[in-house]
Amino acid sequence: MQVDLLIQARWIIPVEPVSVIHENHSLVVDDGKIVDLLPTVQAVERYQPRHQEILDQHVLIPGLINCHTHAAMALLSGIADDLPLMDWLQNHIWPAEQKWVNAAFVRDGTDLAIAEMIRGGTTCFNDMYFFPDVVAQQAIAHGIRANLGLIVFDFPTVWAENADAYLNKGLALHEQLRHEHLLSMSFSPHAPYTVSDQPLRKLLTFADELDLTIHMHVHETRVEVDEQLEKTGQTPLQRLHTLGLLTPSFMAVHMTQLDDEQIRFYAETGGHIVHCPESNLKLASGFCPVAACLDAGINVALGTDGAASNNDQDMLGEMRVAALLAKGVSGNASAVSAMQALQMATINGAKALGLDEKIGSLRAGKAADVVAIDLSDVETQPVFNPLAQIVYAANRHQVSDVWVAGKRLLNKRQLTTLDLQDLRRRAAVWQQRLAGNSA
Ligand SMILES: [Zn+2]
Repeated sequence: MQVDLLIQARWIIPVEPVSVIHENHSLVVDDGKIVDLLPTVQAVERYQPRHQEILDQHVLIPGLINCHTHAAMALLSGIADDLPLMDWLQNHIWPAEQKWVNAAFVRDGTDLAIAEMIRGGTTCFNDMYFFPDVVAQQAIAHGIRANLGLIVFDFPTVWAENADAYLNKGLALHEQLRHEHLLSMSFSPHAPYTVSDQPLRKLLTFADELDLTIHMHVHETRVEVDEQLEKTGQTPLQRLHTLGLLTPSFMAVHMTQLDDEQIRFYAETGGHIVHCPESNLKLASGFCPVAACLDAGINVALGTDGAASNNDQDMLGEMRVAALLAKGVSGNASAVSAMQALQMATINGAKALGLDEKIGSLRAGKAADVVAIDLSDVETQPVFNPLAQIVYAANRHQVSDVWVAGKRLLNKRQLTTLDLQDLRRRAAVWQQRLAGNSA
């Protein structure tokens, strides 16, 4: 049988079924989709590929899903560090954004982040930022999958002047882009403390009508919860529940402030959590009790958050921190195993985005979003367990090849849809602009 591509790999970790590690297997791809996964000796008899890739020192995993970021903030990496959330946001990030963010900033910042993400094995990112129309164009241009946040605030920003204007722009963009095969969309009200009840009610109605997910920062810090309690008599989570937002279509990002009762309550709503451990650590926001959330049956996905609070878009690093932090926070070395960390970075992200029929594992019928990691480096020898090497030892520079929907975006470490020289030049222009005027 003729097919587009056959990838022979030393190891394949499909994520579904869970805990399986195949050795000397091949992944068969045709028309952008996975058609088979079988022992290589059988694959070479059964299929005549138009292209064949032999990766005999490599492990194949599903493309990593960065389930929360603000991609264009790549241009703000290192602009304000070592500060708590509210000081960092109100005195540094928001003023810089108000002054500098425009369509060109979002184009150049998003490109920089897309290059970094592809080189680190990320094949899908869940974005929340201004000018989602530009983010969409850049994702399509470079062949990466993206879930666009149709962002909403109460107050004016460079993208819109009031809550209704954000909603209208989001609805128009959804109408324009809903048939793009690499794109999906969520309503993205920024946070409970920046969006009031009326726009939340409205966007819930639209989300129900259009079958869209909702993506929001929730319970990021103790201060957020205490201030809202004082102001409204409810925790942000209670308020969102009263408004009807907490459903299986809801992604709560961060959730560092949760007691046992809130974990039980949130599990019952069917909502998802997007855990961003590096951002939470850097801003000293607190710890999401991930082990307890997983035990309660909550689907926990993983994200980097924007590069101004992380400062990288490295999902291998994020998996490692997620696994280590969960053990430290729970006092249990079995909490968040290497397999669970990989699930959080793949299939759990797909579930949170409502895309688990399409991506998140290497299963026949799903899109060929595939990452190869070269374990031949001395730093990852010997390989008793390729999964443990990926989560606890490998560096993102060992990501050798990346395919999205069967299209190769990284070929032996070379980007196929972005030019590094051009990215460096554009980053330098913005650096000069921002540094020249912030003094
Ligand atoms: Zn964020």
